[in-house]
Amino acid sequence: MREQRIRKTKTVCTFCGVGCSFDVWTKGRDILKVEPSIDAPVNGISTCVKGKFGWDFVNSRERLTKPLIRRGDSFYEASWDEALDLIASKFRKVRDEFGPDALGFISSSKVTNEENYLMQKLARAVIGTNNIDNCSRYCQSPATDGLLRTVGLAGDSGTIDDIARAGLVIIVGANPAEAHPVLATRVKRAHKLHGQQLIVVDLRRHEMADRADLFVRPNPGTDHVWLSAITRYIIDEGWHDEAFIRNRVDGFEAYVESLRDYTLQYAEQVTGIPVPTLIRMAEMIRDADGVAILWAMGVTQQRGGSETSAAISDLLLVTGNYGRPGAGAFPLRGHNNVQGACDFGTLPNWLPGYQLVSDAAARKRLGAVWGVELPERPGMDNQAMLDAIVRGELRAMYLMGEEMAWVDANANHVHAALSQLEFFVVQDIFLSKTAQFADVVLPASPSLEKEGTFTNTERRVQRLYQVLPPLGDARPDWQIIMDLANRLGADWAYAHPSDIMAEASSIAPLFAGIQYDRLEGYASQIWPVAEDGTSTPLLYKDRFAHPNARAKLARANWIVPDTPDAVYDLHLNNGRLLEHFHEGNMTNQSAGLTHKVPDTFVEISPELASERNIEDGALVRLISPHGQVEVRVMVTDRVYGKEIYLPMNTVSEQSAVNLLTGPAVDLRTHTPAYKETYVRLEVL
Ligand code: SF4
Repeated sequence: MREQRIRKTKTVCTFCGVGCSFDVWTKGRDILKVEPSIDAPVNGISTCVKGKFGWDFVNSRERLTKPLIRRGDSFYEASWDEALDLIASKFRKVRDEFGPDALGFISSSKVTNEENYLMQKLARAVIGTNNIDNCSRYCQSPATDGLLRTVGLAGDSGTIDDIARAGLVIIVGANPAEAHPVLATRVKRAHKLHGQQLIVVDLRRHEMADRADLFVRPNPGTDHVWLSAITRYIIDEGWHDEAFIRNRVDGFEAYVESLRDYTLQYAEQVTGIPVPTLIRMAEMIRDADGVAILWAMGVTQQRGGSETSAAISDLLLVTGNYGRPGAGAFPLRGHNNVQGACDFGTLPNWLPGYQLVSDAAARKRLGAVWGVELPERPGMDNQAMLDAIVRGELRAMYLMGEEMAWVDANANHVHAALSQLEFFVVQDIFLSKTAQFADVVLPASPSLEKEGTFTNTERRVQRLYQVLPPLGDARPDWQIIMDLANRLGADWAYAHPSDIMAEASSIAPLFAGIQYDRLEGYASQIWPVAEDGTSTPLLYKDRFAHPNARAKLARANWIVPDTPDAVYDLHLNNGRLLEHFHEGNMTNQSAGLTHKVPDTFVEISPELASERNIEDGALVRLISPHGQVEVRVMVTDRVYGKEIYLPMNTVSEQSAVNLLTGPAVDLRTHTPAYKETYVRLEVL
């Protein structure tokens, strides 16, 4: 028997948007250790518990290793040829009978940039539809919308170094100590050692709230109001940056007019934040040498998520906190490659590099490279696709690496829609809940089994190298997509993901200089990347990304959230835990993590526990108008009053949070309003 060598291979973490990179030591398929490197551009010698111990899932016995084809209520193992031939013939039949828009494509923020690029190319150039979306629809689309409207690009305006060097960090509706731990460590260090000020605004007293100079707990769904009131107060007091606004920002008068009702007194009445606290927040912004605002799902997953994201950007514009080091807008990307999935075009209205589908010149340019005429009509997002399935208009779907059945809101509706599909293909590493609705399941490779690039929350592109060979007959997603495209008439011959990146960077000016030979080892590039390879860590130094180079203030527009009623009287907040990644499909297969947190639970406040006589560990039923779950209670002062918190990871179908969430969506982007959910509680 040949002796197995010990190997050390560099990869990029797949568990969050911070984008830590490190070496993985292996012997055969055994992962011996994860070793951070001083050369890693984001994390250096740090990782969090997921990056260090979260990799057992790659060798899980639950991994898919063969293509599966449905036969009645079960699946049989098939060859790749049989599975791909079947998919190609079904897709061709649906397209020929009902047109290309009868097919939908769901891409993934867990797979590489190159794989996202190929998925959208398959949809647009091979099938002929813009019906392509990714899971940023569930999280960061509202932040993208708010930034595109105000400053013109959809990405963090600076790097994690800029967050660390800001005079004041404001964290709104985000829990980076659990969801972006290494980034949180940078803030903790700056706060403790370098005098950085920290404001945390959240419903839940999490670790960063405990460390903050000022922790503010507003009423649910009212962030827009305190943001607008503080901005108005800053303008009224003359603390705004007049020269910055005059020289670089449009729409000031109309914006000020839109702030007319947002007095501090009105804000106190709506948000519950006392006027003196609002004034203190404004003073801290005035006195700071650079303000960085970090936000995540607590802001975006509301019906007014886009408007609140725009209000954050407005505040930064009015105070001149763009285009200089240690300041700016930092929507925290959740999945490791949310940024890249969007950048490389898996969105229904955007081609790679944020070129609009509606831009005829862009379509013509890309179409010339791809050798086809591109579809003109913007496609459906994933919410619209589900509705179209129910109406019988969308008949076939190809979904890659997304646990839509548990991660989308209103799970019972999602399950009903998926079961109506005429033909459904799921490509994943496990037989997920979503895959159980499929007609064909294709076994894919996780990040450790392939090459490619990921783009982290600061727009940084990094290479990952193949640590392990694919398990069984599993294959990297890019190879599967290429094989399918060629069976549908394409003639793709990419030998390596570097060939795909070379094509993508040739058609997207934003990525012009991204090349694999510039990304060797721990090297990285931050887009926009000029042809000569120069990165742009700090955006908007000289110009904003609108055609006239100026930013544009968005008018204040608070979307009034849902409120409790006599029956559904508890506000349900939801999100991640440090030890688990989203619904838990990967981390539940990692013993190093599950022994720390084996299942989910619901956090309730000491006040609620006492009022209803509920003991720590009690089994309760939570009921919303859309479904119910059963889960055990953790009594904790992290939550207050009638606020409860249910993490989104679960090992049981009885405790999945999205059985409770409903159909409400952000009005501009259709991101589900997960955070506008009210429930009632029964003790079992
Ligand atoms: Fe991975 Fe994020 Fe943890 Fe870094 S902070 S090791 S990217 S999960």
